[in-house]
Amino acid sequence: MLQERVLGNILVRHGVVAAETLEGLYDQQQEKRAHLADLIVQNKVASEADVARALAAECCLPFVESIDAEAVPIEVGTRLPIGFCRSNKLIVIGESEDEVYAVCADPLVTDGIDDVRAAFGKPVNLRVGAGEIVVEAINRVYERKETASDLRSDEELGDEDERDILDSDDDAPIIRWVNSLFAQAVKERASDIHIEPEEKEVVVRYRIDGELYISRRASRQFMPSVVARVKIMAGLNIAEKRLPQDGRISLKIAGRAIDVRVSTIPTSRDQERIVMRLLHKTNVLMDLTELGFASRDYHLMSHLVTRPNGIVLVTGPTGSGKTTTLYACLNKINRPNVNILTAEDPVEYEIGGIHQVPVQAKIGLTFASALRAFLRQDPDVIMVGETRDRETADIAMRASMTGHLVLSTLHTNDASSAFTRLVDMGIEPFLVRTTVIGVLAQRLVRVLCPHCKQPYEASLQELEELGCGPDRTRWRINRQLGHAYRVHGVPYQPVGWTEGALPIFHRAGGCEKCEGKGFIGRKGIYELLMADDVVGQLVLKNADGQSIKRAAQQQGMDTLRDDGAHKVFEGTTTVAEVLAATQEDVIEE
Ligand SMILES: [Zn+2]
Repeated sequence: MLQERVLGNILVRHGVVAAETLEGLYDQQQEKRAHLADLIVQNKVASEADVARALAAECCLPFVESIDAEAVPIEVGTRLPIGFCRSNKLIVIGESEDEVYAVCADPLVTDGIDDVRAAFGKPVNLRVGAGEIVVEAINRVYERKETASDLRSDEELGDEDERDILDSDDDAPIIRWVNSLFAQAVKERASDIHIEPEEKEVVVRYRIDGELYISRRASRQFMPSVVARVKIMAGLNIAEKRLPQDGRISLKIAGRAIDVRVSTIPTSRDQERIVMRLLHKTNVLMDLTELGFASRDYHLMSHLVTRPNGIVLVTGPTGSGKTTTLYACLNKINRPNVNILTAEDPVEYEIGGIHQVPVQAKIGLTFASALRAFLRQDPDVIMVGETRDRETADIAMRASMTGHLVLSTLHTNDASSAFTRLVDMGIEPFLVRTTVIGVLAQRLVRVLCPHCKQPYEASLQELEELGCGPDRTRWRINRQLGHAYRVHGVPYQPVGWTEGALPIFHRAGGCEKCEGKGFIGRKGIYELLMADDVVGQLVLKNADGQSIKRAAQQQGMDTLRDDGAHKVFEGTTTVAEVLAATQEDVIEE
């Protein structure tokens, strides 16, 4: 009670509480056996910050507005038990040679501060912060401790103990650490895990929706053990440290089967670097309807993959989702009465009912030789992972002409360039014309988190950048959106918008659901070029890519950027995402 009176007097003196109000609070306090400070906040007499500021002033201590929990070293911030920290509303935020830094909500509770001094064996350099801020910081630091590695807690044991762990056969902490890397990657939907030796430490980065994020750091001395552990899991040679190696790990995490492709390479830092790609079955095996095709593209694509013969090509850079699209196509036509053979490098996912052959160039099993063998296996549909050379292209053409449907990928920026690429490989234009029935170009764009995306009025410049100027592509957007579209002085009247208004686009926010990233997952943007008579004539004449593209557009093809614009209008993604994904997709007028 005396303590509460002291606190009350301080608060009155600093103008936080009126003396009259205080008397009423004292009564409540005795009745409820509550703390005065808590009652002041509950009764909305003053905020926790007001109370803390008054206490700081009274005790001549610095007042802090906020605590950067990320900057608190975990081993320092969590050395005291969490219960102690919470009940004393006190957190240790740092330590130097001769003192320890702490923030507390109530500097009058000297017992807690004495305990800190005793635990660290150093005087306490104290600051005062609002109770809620201190508690929040305590929670954040302990959360970090939980997700952080076991290695870190081992590091805290000091030099001698560290050496013990490395030297001894007890590698359980390493195993736990590596396992937790996978568990966290799955939780955060990472597609790749990079483990990289830096000068002083090991850095782990995750690729999530195409972007790399630093996830953890560990002392560099652990790198050899981590590399060894990963190599054991992937069935690689531990002793070989000078050559790159590739392997594979099959895991089950939280009931989900995950295949991990492991690649190690030696680096100049005298340590190997590891990149692991996680293949989630659910991500790889999607239905054609789930890929985000506009309705024209979906219907044409469904039509193409059910044709009895012809070549369908999917183009785009590495990591643009081509394999997912090909698998979705195979999924659509996969029936007991259809013989489907694939040659892949490597086989990303085994699909029931389909015969998949991993290409192994080392032993001479190339795409071309696999394809040649397939023709003797009475196939209906053949998928070739990639058409890289003339030989593969030749056999694919032959397969198509003898009544097979062939699906493959090609490295070109857009759909129209596929024809010129094949001709450049040495294929006769008439063969290209006869066999290729459709080319799909694609990219992936990040999908805005639906929980925190922020609407705003689009600018004319953005519309321009998306190729939605008043002239050439207006009719295209009209058709896509199914309503009137005008801009630049010409009336612009989408449904539900007022005269002259600009469309509403969205930008990324950041919330708990998306871990502050503003995006969740990715979707494709597509350009589907049908090899119709108009396009066919140009192919026969060996026309350039741009002419073919223009002709296809006149036939109703949406370019990558058009489809991207459509997805910006829908609120699926941002202008920046589409522009970044379609840099090369510029039409020369
Ligand atoms: Zn969000």
